[in-house]
Amino acid sequence: MKKLLYFLLPVFLILFACKEKNTSSLQEVEKKNRATTNQKIIDLSHDYSNETIYWVTAEEFQLDTVFKGQTDKGFYYCANNFSTAEHGGTHIDAPIHFAEGGLSVDEIPLEKLIGPGIKIDVSAKALNNPDYLIAIDDLLAWENQQKMKIPNASIVLLETGYSKYYPDKEKYMGTVDRGEDAIKQLHFPGLSKEAATWLVEKRNINAIGIDTPSIDYGQSEYFESHVILLSENIPAFENLTNLDKLPATEFKIIALPMKIKEGSGAPLRIVALKK
Ligand SMILES: [Zn+2]
Repeated sequence: MKKLLYFLLPVFLILFACKEKNTSSLQEVEKKNRATTNQKIIDLSHDYSNETIYWVTAEEFQLDTVFKGQTDKGFYYCANNFSTAEHGGTHIDAPIHFAEGGLSVDEIPLEKLIGPGIKIDVSAKALNNPDYLIAIDDLLAWENQQKMKIPNASIVLLETGYSKYYPDKEKYMGTVDRGEDAIKQLHFPGLSKEAATWLVEKRNINAIGIDTPSIDYGQSEYFESHVILLSENIPAFENLTNLDKLPATEFKIIALPMKIKEGSGAPLRIVALKK
């Protein structure tokens, strides 16, 4: 028995040492991860449900249960089918949405969708005027306040404050009606065509986003800001939320749309990482 113990002791010691080593290296990795990813994740996407807000002419989100419950083989199983227009809820407009020959959603380089973000808060003005048009002056005011130009390759998020009304269609977009006739009743803020032109001519941004149904305001007839931005292959994120939880600078955006081949847009999961 004693002999056996002498024989086994080194084995135990080796096993113990290995376990110790694994534990400490795991702790080290966790510590390192915390140090490098000591960031808060903020979800900028609304969920998809029967309350999801769509353009008044677009087909709304539908979820159909395929199966939900215990199977006769003794395991639980749940699966659904869903259908949706590309442009509804928190989604991306790919350049091809308003620019012939522009990139489709699967072709947008990930470099445009992942990177440093800035936030321009115009909610004080926009919440008092559902037809508010974000002006060049609003962009310049941000630059003056931050003492810097809108950085190259940044993702610009425009906060109007309207996501607090979501999913109340009347308050969020001006009408609960649907169909072609409802378009005239749309009221929500957006980016002016002058400011869109200024952004593509004077600055060099990667993408843009807003917490309303469209980058053009509700009363827009010709969707000029869409045309101006998307023609320069600058994708637009629409129906964002939680922008009030972001600082003006120093956060990172990760915006990953469903990779629909030749899609003009797609549902978008977008998050911000901030320190
Ligand atoms: Zn869209």
